[in-house]
Amino acid sequence: MTNDEIRFGTDILKQADVLATFTEDAPRVTRTYCSKEHKLAGDYLIGLMRDAGMSAGYDAFGNIVGRYEAGVPFAPVVMTGSHQDSVRNAGKYDGLFGILSPIACVKELNRQGKRLPYTLEIVGFGDEEGVRFGVTLIGSKAMAGNFDPAWLEKKDANGVRMREAIAAFGGDPDAWQSLDRRNEGHGEVVAFVESHIEQGPTLLNENLALGVVTAIAGATRMTVRVTGLAGHAGTVPMNVRQDALAAASEMILFVERHCRENGSLVGTVGRIAALPGAINVIPQDVEFSVDVRSGDDLMRRSAIEAIQAEFSEIAKRRGVRVEANPYFELNAAPCDPDLQQQFADAIAAQGIPVRHLPSGAGHDAMEFPKVCPIAMLFVRCGNGGISHHPSETMTAEDADIATKALLHFFENYQPRAFVASAAQRVDRS
Ligand SMILES: [Zn+2]
Repeated sequence: MTNDEIRFGTDILKQADVLATFTEDAPRVTRTYCSKEHKLAGDYLIGLMRDAGMSAGYDAFGNIVGRYEAGVPFAPVVMTGSHQDSVRNAGKYDGLFGILSPIACVKELNRQGKRLPYTLEIVGFGDEEGVRFGVTLIGSKAMAGNFDPAWLEKKDANGVRMREAIAAFGGDPDAWQSLDRRNEGHGEVVAFVESHIEQGPTLLNENLALGVVTAIAGATRMTVRVTGLAGHAGTVPMNVRQDALAAASEMILFVERHCRENGSLVGTVGRIAALPGAINVIPQDVEFSVDVRSGDDLMRRSAIEAIQAEFSEIAKRRGVRVEANPYFELNAAPCDPDLQQQFADAIAAQGIPVRHLPSGAGHDAMEFPKVCPIAMLFVRCGNGGISHHPSETMTAEDADIATKALLHFFENYQPRAFVASAAQRVDRS
């Protein structure tokens, strides 16, 4: 196909290249909440939104919000979007694709002079990844009425509080309640849909460009601290050691074994530090992370209990102490069956077999079931499905067909409230 035949995809990939230049540590891509680069990326996205025929600007938390007004008065709102921020040393499409793709849809609708029976709102969430303040999904939590104002006092690595960062960005940290979309004066939100790169190899392995997400997995995260006793590597006999790192190793292998043996679980230890960290000293203090996810909340909770119990057993046997406390828990978010069907129709309309799959990663959409039904469209991730890494790739063809499917969805979606009021009007006439 020529570049003109895949115009949406070609444009989106170019825009993603531009956005990748707004980074805190070039040539790597890192963009955190309320940074200078967040502003640069936001200004660029606002420009694209306005160029596509939308009104656009920042809200009180630095979320980028564009609106394409409905063709009828008193219409409800359909929200779509994803996050502008990234992990450290990220790829170019995670999050951004879900902002760029709907902007391309609106640009096309506007070009055709077409309005929808609902207002389409595209959001670029300021923070989803939680890199800067250790709180994830800040934007979507605020919009779903799930923001805890205590988080405003959290500090980044330089001691800057979230409250100060939001104010310096030009926002208003104390206006967090005004962002809540649960019942509102902005127009009733009837659906939240998010398009996102898959961040895994399922679609790639099955040679499919697109998939419909069934549910976003829930997650529990723990920080685990193991305390042993330091000693001379040459003089302390093996049978009296209280080696915190050897104990932690056993614990980590248990996490892997337990999750591998239980179908719907995934478990990861991604970070570990040992002190004093010398080649000739027995490790005394070890800290590591545990991340467990599942589409099944009961399965995940019982896995955490099993992990905590086994950690205690290992610690007892090895004469060390262990603390394993969850500091983050998010329930699984099922996608709405009706919206899933509409995405399935949109995919089938592109001549692609419909594949349903769960999302192992968390996404902004997972906060929105408190507001409205949600759905997600997944786009194939190249290079073996790698993401959160510079090797993350998406082809122009896939970006294009995903945008066409999304546009099909937007053009065919009939908000229930609108259908109901239209029916009433017919009844009365
Ligand atoms: Zn993402």
